[in-house]
Amino acid sequence: MWFVGPRSYTGEDMLELQVHGGRAVTLAVLGALARLPGFRPAEPGEFTRRAVENGRLDLTRAEAVADLIAADTQSQRLLALRQYGGALTERYSRWRERLIRSAAWIEANIDFPDEELPDGVWDSSRRELRALLAEMRSQLNDARRGEIIRDGFHVAVIGPPNVGKSSLVNALAQRDVAIVSDLPGTTRDIIEVKLDLGGYAVVLADTAGLRESAEPIEQEGIRRARARADMADFRLLVLDASALTTEPPARADLVAWNKADLCSHKEQGRLYISAKSGEGIEDLIGRLAAAAANQANGAEPPLLTRARHRYAVEEASQRIAAALEEREPELVAEQLRIALRVLGRITGAVDLDELLDVVFRDFCIGK
Ligand code: GDP
Repeated sequence: MWFVGPRSYTGEDMLELQVHGGRAVTLAVLGALARLPGFRPAEPGEFTRRAVENGRLDLTRAEAVADLIAADTQSQRLLALRQYGGALTERYSRWRERLIRSAAWIEANIDFPDEELPDGVWDSSRRELRALLAEMRSQLNDARRGEIIRDGFHVAVIGPPNVGKSSLVNALAQRDVAIVSDLPGTTRDIIEVKLDLGGYAVVLADTAGLRESAEPIEQEGIRRARARADMADFRLLVLDASALTTEPPARADLVAWNKADLCSHKEQGRLYISAKSGEGIEDLIGRLAAAAANQANGAEPPLLTRARHRYAVEEASQRIAAALEEREPELVAEQLRIALRVLGRITGAVDLDELLDVVFRDFCIGK
């Protein structure tokens, strides 16, 4: 199939060969192509990268292609599709345009100090900057919704040793509804499994048992468990229903009493589960899925889907806040210039070259 540039995926002339299935056929075609002068296999993400370089896609849309390929759950797929459709491009560009308009008057005042600015221009610029700042801050306070959908709702499974934390994580991971993938970079003391609960990616982290310990390696495991619990979106405390437990030893969003199969007397209002018999596991999954859905959903679709976006919006908002504090036009202008530059980096409107390597580093071959 012949795609004529510039209206092709990459913006260049493209020829797509659709060959019969089977490894041998594909390999033979690739072998034949390799003998032609100038032919080589594409680098990871090279087609999409060329599309960005040729102005067919901006960086947020290119990131969406990678997200779509990596999507495990329905919510991840929908988020990526929306971003691919240009939802982020549009909103970040609108922010930039508003910032440029506000900055323009201040720049004009510096370049032409003798010209009188129309009355009230500086005030209306400041009003616009304040409105923009408020919008950015409300996006930053979105409870990480975009990142939760994209990277998963992080649940730390905490509790004393031997209550059945690992057994529970295993029991959850072995269910049919669960997509289980081992995440890279997990340490020996924190095991992570990724599940699809009700269309949301949920990452369960099995942490070391929390207890007083004199043993240095165990102490380190416990320190990491506490740090992980602090960073998590949700803390699931597991306690042993068959033992005499009084006070929960840690702050938690939900307490699950495990080993219900060994327990004859059950108290009202407690969530009883058994990693062994499966009792209560369905109920627990329902509650985790509801918590994930609750945090991921909001009135508006999320804008920040990656830490990269969040850092940029944070920095831009700090610069705008600083500009509003300044009196000297030169200093105001400088802050706004930096804010513009930082915002521009999200879509690749500035500093495109240095950003390309970062964005395409994780791309798969051939897309
Ligand atoms: P962890 O230290 O909290 O991760 O606990 P483990 O998952 O290693 O479990 C400790 C012990 O409790 C093991 O012998 C498990 O087989 C047992 N266990 C875990 N869950 C249950 C359960 O629901 N019922 C029963 N009877 N035993 C369980």
